[in-house]
Amino acid sequence: MQRGRRCQLANRVLTLPGRCTEAGAPNRQPQAPRPHPGECAMPDSTRFREILDRTFVIDTHEHIRPLEKLREGPWDFIELCRGSYVAADLRSAGMTEQDWPDADATPEDRWRAFEPWARRVRNTAYYQSLVMGCHKLHGLPEQDDVNAFSMPALTEAMERMRRRDDLYDYALTGIGGIQVALQDPHWQPFCWETEGDVLRAVFRINCFVMAPFPGQADHNAAAPHAFATAMDYEITGFDSYRELIGRAIEKYKQAGGIALKSSLAYDRTLEFGDVSRDDAARLYARGADALDAAEAKALQDYLMHAVVEAAEAHGLPIQIHTGIRAGSGDCRGANPSLLTGLIAAHPNARFDLFHGGYPYATELSVMAKGFPNVYLDLCWLPIISPSVTVRMLHEWLETVPVTKLLWGGDCGSVEASLGALEMAKRVISRTLAEKTELERYFSHDTAVDVATGILHDNAARLFGLS
Ligand SMILES: [Zn+2]
Repeated sequence: MQRGRRCQLANRVLTLPGRCTEAGAPNRQPQAPRPHPGECAMPDSTRFREILDRTFVIDTHEHIRPLEKLREGPWDFIELCRGSYVAADLRSAGMTEQDWPDADATPEDRWRAFEPWARRVRNTAYYQSLVMGCHKLHGLPEQDDVNAFSMPALTEAMERMRRRDDLYDYALTGIGGIQVALQDPHWQPFCWETEGDVLRAVFRINCFVMAPFPGQADHNAAAPHAFATAMDYEITGFDSYRELIGRAIEKYKQAGGIALKSSLAYDRTLEFGDVSRDDAARLYARGADALDAAEAKALQDYLMHAVVEAAEAHGLPIQIHTGIRAGSGDCRGANPSLLTGLIAAHPNARFDLFHGGYPYATELSVMAKGFPNVYLDLCWLPIISPSVTVRMLHEWLETVPVTKLLWGGDCGSVEASLGALEMAKRVISRTLAEKTELERYFSHDTAVDVATGILHDNAARLFGLS
Protein backbone atom coordinates (compact mmCIF):
# COMPACT_ATOMS: atom_id res chain seq x y z
CA MET A 1 0.00 0.00 0.00
CA GLN A 2 1.48 3.26 -1.11
CA ARG A 3 1.16 5.58 1.83
CA GLY A 4 2.07 9.19 1.98
CA ARG A 5 2.46 11.59 4.86
CA ARG A 6 -0.09 11.00 7.55
CA CYS A 7 -1.73 13.56 9.74
CA GLN A 8 0.40 13.25 12.86
CA LEU A 9 -1.38 14.90 15.73
CA ALA A 10 -0.65 13.96 19.26
CA ASN A 11 -3.87 15.21 20.74
CA ARG A 12 -7.22 14.14 19.46
CA VAL A 13 -9.00 17.11 21.01
CA LEU A 14 -7.78 20.38 19.54
CA THR A 15 -8.06 23.94 20.60
CA LEU A 16 -10.29 26.13 18.50
CA PRO A 17 -9.91 27.83 16.17
CA GLY A 18 -8.14 25.60 13.71
CA ARG A 19 -8.10 22.14 12.46
CA CYS A 20 -5.46 19.99 10.91
CA THR A 21 -3.91 22.33 8.40
CA GLU A 22 -1.33 19.85 7.17
CA ALA A 23 -3.50 19.13 4.13
CA GLY A 24 -3.24 22.75 3.16
CA ALA A 25 -6.75 23.57 4.21
CA PRO A 26 -7.52 27.00 5.54
CA ASN A 27 -8.49 27.36 9.17
CA ARG A 28 -12.22 27.66 9.19
CA GLN A 29 -14.32 28.62 12.13
CA PRO A 30 -16.94 25.95 12.68
CA GLN A 31 -20.26 27.04 11.25
CA ALA A 32 -23.26 27.23 13.50
CA PRO A 33 -25.31 24.13 12.75
CA ARG A 34 -28.41 24.67 10.66
CA PRO A 35 -31.40 23.74 12.84
CA HIS A 36 -32.48 20.26 11.92
CA PRO A 37 -36.19 19.83 11.18
CA GLY A 38 -37.79 18.59 14.35
CA GLU A 39 -34.74 19.35 16.49
CA CYS A 40 -35.73 20.55 19.94
CA ALA A 41 -34.55 23.94 21.07
CA MET A 42 -34.04 22.44 24.54
CA PRO A 43 -31.99 20.92 25.99
CA ASP A 44 -28.96 22.78 24.73
CA SER A 45 -26.69 20.54 22.69
CA THR A 46 -24.23 23.34 21.82
CA ARG A 47 -21.53 22.44 24.31
CA PHE A 48 -21.42 18.83 23.10
CA ARG A 49 -21.36 20.04 19.53
CA GLU A 50 -18.32 22.15 20.38
CA ILE A 51 -16.56 19.12 21.86
CA LEU A 52 -17.36 17.08 18.75
CA ASP A 53 -16.04 19.88 16.52
CA ARG A 54 -12.76 19.85 18.44
CA THR A 55 -12.38 16.07 18.15
CA PHE A 56 -10.44 14.50 15.32
CA VAL A 57 -12.55 11.79 13.74
CA ILE A 58 -11.82 8.23 12.74
CA ASP A 59 -14.40 7.34 10.11
CA THR A 60 -14.80 3.55 9.96
CA HIS A 61 -16.31 3.25 6.51
CA GLU A 62 -16.40 5.03 3.15
CA HIS A 63 -16.54 4.18 -0.56
CA ILE A 64 -15.34 7.51 -1.93
CA ARG A 65 -14.90 7.24 -5.67
CA PRO A 66 -11.46 7.88 -7.22
CA LEU A 67 -10.61 11.36 -8.50
CA GLU A 68 -10.26 9.97 -12.01
CA LYS A 69 -13.89 8.82 -11.97
CA LEU A 70 -15.02 12.05 -10.38
CA ARG A 71 -13.50 14.01 -13.24
CA GLU A 72 -15.41 12.07 -15.92
CA GLY A 73 -18.57 13.64 -17.31
CA PRO A 74 -20.68 16.52 -15.99
CA TRP A 75 -20.52 17.41 -12.32
CA ASP A 76 -23.28 19.17 -10.45
CA PHE A 77 -25.72 18.56 -7.59
CA ILE A 78 -27.88 16.38 -9.82
CA GLU A 79 -24.95 14.08 -10.62
CA LEU A 80 -24.07 14.07 -6.94
CA CYS A 81 -27.58 12.81 -6.18
CA ARG A 82 -27.28 10.23 -8.94
CA GLY A 83 -24.11 8.79 -7.42
CA SER A 84 -25.47 8.75 -3.88
CA TYR A 85 -28.17 7.07 -1.81
CA VAL A 86 -30.57 9.77 -3.02
CA ALA A 87 -30.82 7.82 -6.29
CA ALA A 88 -32.37 4.93 -4.36
CA ASP A 89 -34.99 7.24 -2.83
CA LEU A 90 -35.71 8.69 -6.28
CA ARG A 91 -36.21 5.16 -7.64
CA SER A 92 -38.51 4.46 -4.72
CA ALA A 93 -40.44 7.65 -5.65
CA GLY A 94 -40.99 6.36 -9.20
CA MET A 95 -38.08 7.90 -11.11
CA THR A 96 -36.67 5.77 -13.93
CA GLU A 97 -33.33 5.88 -15.74
CA GLN A 98 -34.95 7.85 -18.59
CA ASP A 99 -36.09 10.59 -16.19
CA TRP A 100 -32.55 11.77 -15.34
CA PRO A 101 -31.90 15.13 -17.05
CA ASP A 102 -29.95 15.21 -20.28
CA ALA A 103 -26.22 15.67 -19.62
CA ASP A 104 -25.94 18.16 -22.51
CA ALA A 105 -28.83 20.39 -21.39
CA THR A 106 -28.17 23.81 -19.88
CA PRO A 107 -27.88 23.94 -16.07
CA GLU A 108 -31.27 25.71 -15.93
CA ASP A 109 -32.95 23.01 -18.04
CA ARG A 110 -31.29 20.26 -16.04
CA TRP A 111 -32.64 21.70 -12.80
CA ARG A 112 -36.10 22.25 -14.33
CA ALA A 113 -36.22 18.56 -15.27
CA PHE A 114 -34.87 17.39 -11.92
CA GLU A 115 -36.77 19.64 -9.52
CA PRO A 116 -40.11 17.77 -9.57
CA TRP A 117 -38.25 14.61 -8.60
CA ALA A 118 -36.16 16.39 -5.96
CA ARG A 119 -39.40 17.64 -4.38
CA ARG A 120 -40.50 14.04 -3.90
CA VAL A 121 -37.46 13.06 -1.85
CA ARG A 122 -36.07 16.22 -0.31
CA ASN A 123 -37.64 15.23 3.00
CA THR A 124 -35.38 12.19 3.38
CA ALA A 125 -32.20 12.11 5.41
CA TYR A 126 -30.26 10.89 2.37
CA TYR A 127 -31.18 14.11 0.55
CA GLN A 128 -30.89 16.46 3.52
CA SER A 129 -27.46 15.13 4.49
CA LEU A 130 -26.21 15.65 0.94
CA VAL A 131 -27.37 19.27 1.07
CA MET A 132 -25.57 19.61 4.43
CA GLY A 133 -22.38 18.30 2.81
CA CYS A 134 -22.69 20.95 0.09
CA HIS A 135 -23.11 23.61 2.78
CA LYS A 136 -19.95 22.37 4.47
CA LEU A 137 -17.73 21.97 1.46
CA HIS A 138 -18.96 24.50 -1.06
CA GLY A 139 -20.24 27.26 1.18
CA LEU A 140 -23.74 26.90 -0.22
CA PRO A 141 -25.68 29.82 1.25
CA GLU A 142 -27.61 28.89 4.36
CA GLN A 143 -31.05 28.27 2.96
CA ASP A 144 -33.54 25.47 2.90
CA ASP A 145 -32.44 23.59 -0.15
CA VAL A 146 -30.64 23.50 -3.44
CA ASN A 147 -32.81 25.39 -5.92
CA ALA A 148 -32.77 27.20 -9.26
CA PHE A 149 -31.03 30.20 -7.68
CA SER A 150 -28.29 28.33 -5.85
CA MET A 151 -27.57 25.70 -8.52
CA PRO A 152 -25.24 27.75 -10.78
CA ALA A 153 -22.95 28.86 -7.93
CA LEU A 154 -22.98 25.38 -6.45
CA THR A 155 -22.08 23.82 -9.81
CA GLU A 156 -19.16 26.23 -10.20
CA ALA A 157 -17.91 25.47 -6.70
CA MET A 158 -18.20 21.72 -7.30
CA GLU A 159 -16.30 22.02 -10.58
CA ARG A 160 -13.51 23.94 -8.85
CA MET A 161 -13.36 21.39 -6.06
CA ARG A 162 -13.01 18.32 -8.28
CA ARG A 163 -9.95 19.87 -9.96
CA ARG A 164 -8.05 19.84 -6.64
CA ASP A 165 -5.47 17.07 -6.51
CA ASP A 166 -5.63 17.13 -2.71
CA LEU A 167 -9.43 16.91 -2.68
CA TYR A 168 -9.71 14.07 -0.16
CA ASP A 169 -7.29 15.48 2.39
CA TYR A 170 -8.64 19.00 1.93
CA ALA A 171 -12.30 18.03 2.29
CA LEU A 172 -12.18 15.19 4.80
CA THR A 173 -9.33 16.35 7.03
CA GLY A 174 -9.23 20.08 6.43
CA ILE A 175 -12.97 20.70 6.49
CA GLY A 176 -14.30 17.63 8.29
CA GLY A 177 -11.53 17.07 10.82
CA ILE A 178 -11.36 13.39 9.78
CA GLN A 179 -7.97 11.98 10.70
CA VAL A 180 -8.42 8.58 9.04
CA ALA A 181 -11.25 7.19 6.92
CA LEU A 182 -11.39 3.47 6.26
CA GLN A 183 -12.15 3.12 2.58
CA ASP A 184 -13.79 0.08 0.97
CA PRO A 185 -12.59 0.34 -2.66
CA HIS A 186 -14.80 -2.44 -4.02
CA TRP A 187 -14.20 -1.32 -7.62
CA GLN A 188 -10.50 -2.29 -7.46
CA PRO A 189 -10.30 -5.84 -6.07
CA PHE A 190 -6.96 -6.77 -4.53
CA CYS A 191 -5.60 -3.24 -4.91
CA TRP A 192 -5.20 -1.47 -1.59
CA GLU A 193 -3.72 1.78 -2.76
CA THR A 194 -5.74 4.86 -1.90
CA GLU A 195 -5.64 8.51 -2.84
CA GLY A 196 -4.75 11.07 -0.22
CA ASP A 197 -3.31 10.57 3.24
CA VAL A 198 -6.68 10.32 4.93
CA LEU A 199 -7.99 7.16 3.24
CA ARG A 200 -6.90 3.66 4.33
CA ALA A 201 -8.15 0.67 2.33
CA VAL A 202 -9.95 -2.26 3.92
CA PHE A 203 -9.87 -5.65 2.19
CA ARG A 204 -13.24 -6.91 0.98
CA ILE A 205 -13.41 -10.68 1.45
CA ASN A 206 -16.66 -11.60 -0.36
CA CYS A 207 -14.85 -13.26 -3.25
CA PHE A 208 -13.18 -15.92 -1.10
CA VAL A 209 -16.62 -17.08 0.07
CA MET A 210 -18.68 -16.55 -3.09
CA ALA A 211 -16.22 -17.46 -5.86
CA PRO A 212 -14.07 -20.41 -4.77
CA PHE A 213 -13.97 -22.21 -8.14
CA PRO A 214 -11.84 -21.41 -11.21
CA GLY A 215 -13.51 -18.87 -13.50
CA GLN A 216 -15.81 -17.55 -10.76
CA ALA A 217 -15.94 -13.93 -9.56
CA ASP A 218 -18.03 -12.19 -6.91
CA HIS A 219 -20.45 -9.32 -7.52
CA ASN A 220 -17.53 -6.87 -7.68
CA ALA A 221 -15.74 -9.00 -10.30
CA ALA A 222 -13.13 -10.08 -7.76
CA ALA A 223 -11.77 -13.52 -8.76
CA PRO A 224 -9.59 -15.38 -6.23
CA HIS A 225 -8.15 -17.73 -8.87
CA ALA A 226 -7.01 -14.79 -11.00
CA PHE A 227 -5.48 -13.24 -7.88
CA ALA A 228 -3.67 -16.52 -7.13
CA THR A 229 -2.24 -16.53 -10.65
CA ALA A 230 -1.06 -12.95 -10.21
CA MET A 231 0.58 -14.00 -6.92
CA ASP A 232 2.24 -16.92 -8.70
CA TYR A 233 0.38 -19.28 -6.40
CA GLU A 234 -1.05 -22.54 -7.71
CA ILE A 235 -4.42 -23.75 -6.46
CA THR A 236 -4.30 -27.53 -6.73
CA GLY A 237 -7.37 -28.39 -4.68
CA PHE A 238 -9.41 -27.58 -1.60
CA ASP A 239 -6.59 -27.21 0.92
CA SER A 240 -4.54 -24.96 -1.33
CA TYR A 241 -7.61 -22.80 -1.98
CA ARG A 242 -8.14 -22.50 1.75
CA GLU A 243 -4.50 -21.58 2.16
CA LEU A 244 -4.86 -18.87 -0.49
CA ILE A 245 -7.30 -17.08 1.82
CA GLY A 246 -4.71 -16.91 4.58
CA ARG A 247 -1.96 -15.85 2.19
CA ALA A 248 -4.03 -13.07 0.64
CA ILE A 249 -4.98 -11.69 4.05
CA GLU A 250 -1.35 -11.91 5.16
CA LYS A 251 -0.29 -10.01 2.03
CA TYR A 252 -2.86 -7.31 2.78
CA LYS A 253 -1.66 -7.06 6.38
CA GLN A 254 1.96 -6.76 5.24
CA ALA A 255 0.91 -3.95 2.89
CA GLY A 256 -0.26 -1.97 5.94
CA GLY A 257 -3.85 -3.24 6.03
CA ILE A 258 -5.99 -2.60 9.09
CA ALA A 259 -9.36 -4.34 8.60
CA LEU A 260 -11.32 -6.83 6.50
CA LYS A 261 -14.79 -6.08 5.18
CA SER A 262 -17.71 -8.37 4.34
CA SER A 263 -20.70 -7.23 2.32
CA LEU A 264 -21.98 -10.80 2.07
CA ALA A 265 -25.43 -9.68 3.22
CA TYR A 266 -25.87 -8.50 -0.39
CA ASP A 267 -25.15 -12.05 -1.61
CA ARG A 268 -26.68 -14.44 0.90
CA THR A 269 -27.97 -14.96 4.43
CA LEU A 270 -25.77 -13.96 7.37
CA GLU A 271 -26.31 -17.36 8.96
CA PHE A 272 -23.06 -19.36 8.64
CA GLY A 273 -23.40 -23.00 9.69
CA ASP A 274 -20.75 -25.15 11.28
CA VAL A 275 -19.39 -27.32 8.42
CA SER A 276 -16.45 -29.68 8.89
CA ARG A 277 -13.28 -29.45 6.82
CA ASP A 278 -13.93 -32.93 5.34
CA ASP A 279 -17.51 -32.10 4.31
CA ALA A 280 -16.36 -28.84 2.72
CA ALA A 281 -13.49 -30.63 0.92
CA ARG A 282 -15.93 -33.21 -0.49
CA LEU A 283 -18.22 -30.41 -1.77
CA TYR A 284 -15.28 -28.56 -3.31
CA ALA A 285 -14.04 -31.72 -5.06
CA ARG A 286 -17.40 -32.11 -6.84
CA GLY A 287 -17.06 -28.70 -8.56
CA ALA A 288 -19.35 -25.70 -8.88
CA ASP A 289 -21.87 -27.19 -11.33
CA ALA A 290 -22.56 -30.28 -9.22
CA LEU A 291 -23.65 -28.37 -6.09
CA ASP A 292 -27.25 -27.49 -5.32
CA ALA A 293 -28.08 -24.28 -3.45
CA ALA A 294 -27.86 -25.86 0.02
CA GLU A 295 -24.53 -27.50 -0.79
CA ALA A 296 -23.09 -24.28 -2.24
CA LYS A 297 -24.19 -22.50 0.95
CA ALA A 298 -22.52 -25.13 3.13
CA LEU A 299 -19.23 -24.63 1.28
CA GLN A 300 -19.57 -20.84 1.63
CA ASP A 301 -20.27 -21.29 5.35
CA TYR A 302 -17.03 -23.17 5.82
CA LEU A 303 -15.06 -20.62 3.82
CA MET A 304 -16.42 -17.73 5.88
CA HIS A 305 -15.15 -19.48 9.02
CA ALA A 306 -11.79 -19.81 7.24
CA VAL A 307 -11.77 -16.06 6.52
CA VAL A 308 -12.51 -15.26 10.17
CA GLU A 309 -9.75 -17.63 11.30
CA ALA A 310 -7.30 -15.80 9.04
CA ALA A 311 -8.53 -12.43 10.35
CA GLU A 312 -7.95 -13.67 13.88
CA ALA A 313 -4.50 -15.03 13.02
CA HIS A 314 -3.41 -11.68 11.59
CA GLY A 315 -5.09 -9.55 14.26
CA LEU A 316 -7.42 -7.83 11.79
CA PRO A 317 -10.93 -6.79 12.85
CA ILE A 318 -13.63 -7.84 10.40
CA GLN A 319 -16.30 -5.33 9.40
CA ILE A 320 -19.62 -6.91 8.46
CA HIS A 321 -22.59 -5.32 6.71
CA THR A 322 -25.79 -6.08 8.62
CA GLY A 323 -29.39 -4.91 8.21
CA ILE A 324 -30.77 -2.66 5.46
CA ARG A 325 -29.29 -3.09 1.99
CA ALA A 326 -28.80 0.03 -0.14
CA GLY A 327 -31.59 0.40 -2.68
CA SER A 328 -33.41 -2.75 -1.55
CA GLY A 329 -36.65 -3.26 0.32
CA ASP A 330 -35.61 -6.77 1.32
CA CYS A 331 -33.67 -7.05 4.57
CA ARG A 332 -34.45 -10.71 5.20
CA GLY A 333 -31.30 -12.67 5.93
CA ALA A 334 -29.44 -9.57 7.13
CA ASN A 335 -30.41 -9.64 10.80
CA PRO A 336 -27.13 -9.40 12.75
CA SER A 337 -28.32 -12.06 15.20
CA LEU A 338 -27.88 -14.57 12.37
CA LEU A 339 -24.13 -14.10 12.92
CA THR A 340 -24.35 -15.47 16.47
CA GLY A 341 -22.92 -18.91 15.61
CA LEU A 342 -19.99 -17.42 13.68
CA ILE A 343 -19.17 -14.97 16.46
CA ALA A 344 -19.46 -17.57 19.21
CA ALA A 345 -17.12 -19.89 17.28
CA HIS A 346 -14.37 -17.24 17.10
CA PRO A 347 -14.08 -15.55 20.49
CA ASN A 348 -10.70 -14.07 19.63
CA ALA A 349 -11.79 -12.46 16.37
CA ARG A 350 -13.12 -8.90 16.54
CA PHE A 351 -16.38 -8.14 14.73
CA ASP A 352 -17.31 -4.59 13.74
CA LEU A 353 -21.02 -4.93 12.91
CA PHE A 354 -22.32 -2.20 10.62
CA HIS A 355 -25.28 0.11 10.25
CA GLY A 356 -26.60 -0.42 13.76
CA GLY A 357 -28.14 -3.58 12.26
CA TYR A 358 -31.09 -1.38 11.22
CA PRO A 359 -33.93 -2.29 11.48
CA TYR A 360 -32.63 -4.95 13.89
CA ALA A 361 -30.88 -2.42 16.11
CA THR A 362 -32.07 -3.89 19.39
CA GLU A 363 -30.79 -7.34 18.41
CA LEU A 364 -27.40 -5.75 17.79
CA SER A 365 -27.38 -4.11 21.22
CA VAL A 366 -27.92 -7.54 22.81
CA MET A 367 -24.99 -8.92 20.82
CA ALA A 368 -22.65 -6.02 21.61
CA LYS A 369 -23.63 -6.26 25.26
CA GLY A 370 -23.06 -10.00 25.52
CA PHE A 371 -20.10 -10.67 23.22
CA PRO A 372 -16.82 -8.99 24.25
CA ASN A 373 -15.64 -9.24 20.62
CA VAL A 374 -18.63 -7.45 19.02
CA TYR A 375 -18.46 -3.72 18.23
CA LEU A 376 -21.49 -1.69 17.31
CA ASP A 377 -20.88 0.55 14.33
CA LEU A 378 -23.51 3.14 13.49
CA CYS A 379 -21.98 3.90 10.11
CA TRP A 380 -24.61 4.99 7.57
CA LEU A 381 -27.39 4.99 10.21
CA PRO A 382 -27.59 8.79 10.90
CA ILE A 383 -28.24 9.45 7.19
CA ILE A 384 -30.81 6.67 6.98
CA SER A 385 -32.68 8.24 9.88
CA PRO A 386 -31.32 10.75 12.41
CA SER A 387 -34.30 10.21 14.70
CA VAL A 388 -33.81 6.42 14.72
CA THR A 389 -30.14 7.05 15.54
CA VAL A 390 -31.06 9.30 18.47
CA ARG A 391 -33.53 6.70 19.72
CA MET A 392 -31.04 3.85 19.31
CA LEU A 393 -28.16 5.82 20.82
CA HIS A 394 -30.30 6.28 23.94
CA GLU A 395 -30.79 2.53 24.07
CA TRP A 396 -27.17 1.63 23.25
CA LEU A 397 -25.81 4.09 25.81
CA GLU A 398 -27.90 2.34 28.44
CA THR A 399 -26.93 -1.17 27.37
CA VAL A 400 -23.52 -1.31 25.64
CA PRO A 401 -20.07 -0.38 27.04
CA VAL A 402 -19.20 3.01 25.57
CA THR A 403 -15.86 1.73 24.26
CA LYS A 404 -17.69 -0.40 21.68
CA LEU A 405 -19.56 2.30 19.74
CA LEU A 406 -18.15 3.55 16.42
CA TRP A 407 -19.15 5.84 13.56
CA GLY A 408 -18.57 5.91 9.78
CA GLY A 409 -20.07 7.74 6.81
CA ASP A 410 -20.49 4.98 4.19
CA CYS A 411 -20.65 7.45 1.30
CA GLY A 412 -19.36 7.72 -2.26
CA SER A 413 -18.36 11.40 -2.33
CA VAL A 414 -16.70 13.90 -0.04
CA GLU A 415 -19.88 16.01 -0.02
CA ALA A 416 -21.92 13.03 1.17
CA SER A 417 -19.31 12.07 3.78
CA LEU A 418 -19.23 15.59 5.21
CA GLY A 419 -23.03 15.59 5.28
CA ALA A 420 -23.02 12.24 7.05
CA LEU A 421 -20.54 13.56 9.63
CA GLU A 422 -22.66 16.66 10.17
CA MET A 423 -25.74 14.50 10.70
CA ALA A 424 -23.83 12.24 13.10
CA LYS A 425 -22.61 15.20 15.15
CA ARG A 426 -26.14 16.55 15.41
CA VAL A 427 -27.58 13.27 16.63
CA ILE A 428 -24.74 12.59 19.07
CA SER A 429 -24.80 16.08 20.58
CA ARG A 430 -28.59 16.05 20.83
CA THR A 431 -28.61 12.61 22.48
CA LEU A 432 -25.92 13.62 24.96
CA ALA A 433 -27.75 16.81 25.84
CA GLU A 434 -30.90 14.80 26.49
CA LYS A 435 -29.02 12.17 28.50
CA THR A 436 -27.37 14.78 30.74
CA GLU A 437 -29.69 17.79 31.01
CA LEU A 438 -33.12 16.31 30.43
CA GLU A 439 -32.83 12.85 31.93
CA ARG A 440 -29.90 13.50 34.29
CA TYR A 441 -28.91 9.95 33.39
CA PHE A 442 -25.13 10.45 33.43
CA SER A 443 -22.66 13.23 34.08
CA HIS A 444 -21.12 15.72 31.68
CA ASP A 445 -17.77 13.90 32.10
CA THR A 446 -19.29 10.63 31.00
CA ALA A 447 -20.91 12.38 28.05
CA VAL A 448 -17.53 13.76 26.95
CA ASP A 449 -16.11 10.22 27.00
CA VAL A 450 -19.05 9.07 24.89
CA ALA A 451 -18.58 11.87 22.36
CA THR A 452 -14.84 11.41 21.86
CA GLY A 453 -15.18 7.62 22.09
CA ILE A 454 -17.70 7.31 19.28
CA LEU A 455 -15.95 9.67 16.90
CA HIS A 456 -12.34 8.73 17.61
CA ASP A 457 -11.05 6.73 20.56
CA ASN A 458 -12.95 3.48 20.09
CA ALA A 459 -12.01 3.12 16.43
CA ALA A 460 -8.41 4.13 17.22
CA ARG A 461 -8.18 1.23 19.67
CA LEU A 462 -9.98 -1.31 17.48
CA PHE A 463 -7.96 -0.59 14.33
CA GLY A 464 -4.66 0.16 16.04
CA LEU A 465 -4.58 3.82 15.00
CA SER A 466 -3.26 6.55 17.22
ZN1 LIG B 1 -20.68 0.51 2.68
